[in-house]
Amino acid sequence: MTVLRTARFGFFKSSPHINPLWGRTSTPAVFEIALCAISLILCPASCLIPWATIELYDGSVGKFLVSLGDNDGVYTIFNWVQTSLPSVLDSMRLYGIWVIFQATLFVALPGATVYGETTPAGNRLRYKINGLLSWFLTIGVYILGGLCSWWDADIVVKQWSGLMVAANAYGIVLTILAYVKAHVSPSHSSDRKFSDSLFHDIFAGIELNPRIGHFDLKLFNVGRVGMTAWTIVNLSLAASQYQHFGYVCNGMIVVNILQNIYILDFFYHEEWYTRTIDIAHDHFGFYLAWGGAVFIPSMYTIQAQYLAHYPANLSRATALIILLVGVSGYWMFRASNHQRTVARRTSGNCVIWGKKPVVITAHYTTSNGAKHTNLLLCSGFWGIVRHFNYIADLILTFAMCASCGTQNVLPYAYFIYMTVLLIHRSSRDEDRCSKKYGKDWDLYKAQVPYALIPGIY
Ligand code: NDP
Repeated sequence: MTVLRTARFGFFKSSPHINPLWGRTSTPAVFEIALCAISLILCPASCLIPWATIELYDGSVGKFLVSLGDNDGVYTIFNWVQTSLPSVLDSMRLYGIWVIFQATLFVALPGATVYGETTPAGNRLRYKINGLLSWFLTIGVYILGGLCSWWDADIVVKQWSGLMVAANAYGIVLTILAYVKAHVSPSHSSDRKFSDSLFHDIFAGIELNPRIGHFDLKLFNVGRVGMTAWTIVNLSLAASQYQHFGYVCNGMIVVNILQNIYILDFFYHEEWYTRTIDIAHDHFGFYLAWGGAVFIPSMYTIQAQYLAHYPANLSRATALIILLVGVSGYWMFRASNHQRTVARRTSGNCVIWGKKPVVITAHYTTSNGAKHTNLLLCSGFWGIVRHFNYIADLILTFAMCASCGTQNVLPYAYFIYMTVLLIHRSSRDEDRCSKKYGKDWDLYKAQVPYALIPGIY
């Protein structure tokens, strides 16, 4: 207990801070701290589990779990990791080039200037939005390099284990950097959140939007290092399937289409991303540093990893239905997010589903004492449940997994993970909004009583 609640390192202790009025908790329960500690220890190795299950256990989670109970299981995995590590130094170099290339595009490409949400301490940060151009350029360079034989199109697959080591090293170093920076050189000191647990502060982060000069670590790491990698890993896996089997199965094509629609949308609406929980609420610690660097490229690509080894040749009708379900999920995801943006941008003077929207003017105070208001939309998709965008996201996510057929549960791990993440996220968000808006949030809840499923939850 005392170990979990270890105070901050001595020389950091004196950092003056005001805990902002809302945002991540400053008083985590022991259970939460324990979960942070366990995640910090176990997460780095977890990224190899899907790959090991696919390569060593026919993609069967059951066989993987049985092997863990067997004495030789862990040894087999350890041995496999060792022998499949190509040359870690080569992978480190490749990964370093990747991060530097992304950072160069992030800094050098032109982009529109936008302002994020007002932070709990009353700051409004400026962002340069150039993710879409950066994404297209990265894909262009990757394809050009493959065509000109500068590298193999399946380079990421060939160096997978080495790249995972490199990504882990980067994610961990970034986490430590964020923790130390938060104490010694914070970008916006009044937007920091501390707790009395070292583990919680490292995992959940202290600074809200850490920057080095104008370089925003959060937007860069999640967007460029994470989301762009998602596309490149998937393309590399499709190339690998082609090289092994001589064709790319329709399941792989559907997965690539659906996931790239989602990623393209992310970059096309990058301004919107600055107002989401990742940027406006979550602080920058292991969760976002390691998550962007390792979790997105290794776990969000699980369907393509699976299909690269076990192609799913779906009937045309099945592939089409899955594609349609996925695109419908995406459309609802985008349309619901758009309704909320438009309602706020026009101060409610717009038309949603043929009518003037129902809105609540919610009041909040930042920790500098300034009073503000925001509109909460209560009609359209937002009159059905309070997190309609999550439901739409889950429909799309399910379609991505269904593209892998029904042979194994492994590709569905992504859907299971997203369901848990979004349920937990909805309750975190409710908690935050309730602290931020007080009785106006209660009014909203009275108007739209269900969080995720009408009549049930
Ligand atoms: P939201 O984009 O839904 O943002 C929540 C915030 O929106 C609230 O904190 C509040 O912020 C504001 N808000 C809440 N209700 C209303 C309302 N009725 N009217 C207007 N504003 C409202 O959540 P996320 O940031 O979690 O998600 C963004 C998208 O990304 C989602 O569509 C989600 O599905 C997706 N996502 C995808 C993930 C992935 O890994 N693929 C992971 C997480 C999310 P405030 O009032 O303070 O502005």
